[in-house]
Amino acid sequence: MKIKERYIFLECTTCSNRNYTTHKRLKATYKLEKKKYCPFCRKHTGHKEKKL
Ligand SMILES: [Zn+2]
Repeated sequence: MKIKERYIFLECTTCSNRNYTTHKRLKATYKLEKKKYCPFCRKHTGHKEKKL
């Protein structure tokens, strides 16, 4: 059985630039939020998921 996944953006919560793409399972209900390096802010910031 294949696991269906959908692609999402990770958007910087500080400058709203979409710096990363990732994927997660279709049925997953949790919201992704990760600390990632933002090249626009030039530091690590929180990144929230946005749909493609
Ligand atoms: Zn940023």
